[in-house]
Amino acid sequence: MLLIKNGRVLDPATKIDATLDVLIDGDRISKVGANLDASGAEVFDATSLVVAPGFIDLHCHLREPGGEMSETIETGTKSAARGGFTAVCCMPNTQPVNDNAAVTRSIVERAAAAGTVRVWPIGAASKSSKGESLAEISAMKAAGIVAVSDDGKPVATARLMRQVMDYCTPLGLPVIDHCEDPSLFAGGVMREGPHSLKLGLQGIPAASESICVGRDIEMALLTGARLHIAHMSASASLAYVRAAKRSGLRVTCEVTPHHFTLTDEDVRYDASYKMNPPLASRADRDALISGLADGSVDCIATDHAPHHPASKDVEFDRAPFGILGFETALALGFSELVHPGKLPLIRLLELFTTGPARILGIERKLAAGEPADVTIFSTDHEWTYRAADSPSKSRNTPFDGRTFRGAPMATVVAGRIVYRR
Ligand SMILES: [Zn+2]
Ligand SMILES: [Zn+2]
Repeated sequence: MLLIKNGRVLDPATKIDATLDVLIDGDRISKVGANLDASGAEVFDATSLVVAPGFIDLHCHLREPGGEMSETIETGTKSAARGGFTAVCCMPNTQPVNDNAAVTRSIVERAAAAGTVRVWPIGAASKSSKGESLAEISAMKAAGIVAVSDDGKPVATARLMRQVMDYCTPLGLPVIDHCEDPSLFAGGVMREGPHSLKLGLQGIPAASESICVGRDIEMALLTGARLHIAHMSASASLAYVRAAKRSGLRVTCEVTPHHFTLTDEDVRYDASYKMNPPLASRADRDALISGLADGSVDCIATDHAPHHPASKDVEFDRAPFGILGFETALALGFSELVHPGKLPLIRLLELFTTGPARILGIERKLAAGEPADVTIFSTDHEWTYRAADSPSKSRNTPFDGRTFRGAPMATVVAGRIVYRR
């Protein structure tokens, strides 16, 4: 048994905000209440800390199988635990692609053996994510996938998207799309605008994303499917999502910490500033923050995308897209959103807990009988992020050396403390 004592229990699902204890028996929460006692239980003193439902990351890349130079399920989930995440959803763009039940099962088995945080795989929408024919979606669902996506690229055509949606709806699977128009994206390495001109780097217009968001929403209207827009970066995309929500479509979206923190003005000749979608304009960044505040954005997802130093340590043009995300996500939420007064703490927690849970069709709360996944954090602990100390195999982050106020202090998965600061 584990007894988490004297923490500020803050739960967006139950709206509880009070100093309470949480008693865990086995892999379930057995009681939430004042002055709990349990003889023989391990005690975690959470005085001056916040005790919240376990965080879920809807979008990450664990690189296994096939990319073990950059990350493995073991190293990636250790990094996730340090970020306060109790469950992470891994995208299927591995080698081989997770487009069949055998790959799904191997990911689930490796995650169980690694024993850190829960891993919920996302299956490919199309075979090898090539955009030609449907992947084995129902067999993957039986093996444990929680959503489908061809992340890394969009579902290739509207026709294929229609088939994917028609197939996923009766299975209850959300369709997650990486929205980009390949013809507009081609050759680009950062957001098109005055800053790409200044740096002499080929730009990608914001419309590359929003055109595809518009297409996918049209397909959601046609099919009634559950559509989730990955790593949304443009205000025009947000406008489409807002309109879709107003008309009652089942459309949701996520924003990454780097897109609510940085802009194209921050880009320099350092591949740690190269990601897809690229860092957007200041106006876009501000629009995303208003969407996070007013509920138009449903969750924060990291898009943790490790790349081995050897692959990132090349000219900007040649480097792969993507940065690490797990360990700085919550701290960036504090420094960019909560501490400056742009979001109340409870809303930030929604974006890490009930928000992603709802997209997956599950509940997430601190209550008796629920799975004992708990994130314990401080809102004012000062620390400096050192990528070199990360259990991740990669170091590609623009936040190395940044000092933060607020940090995950312990991560509990299925009743077990898997990380403690
Ligand atoms: Zn993507
Ligand atoms: Zn991704």
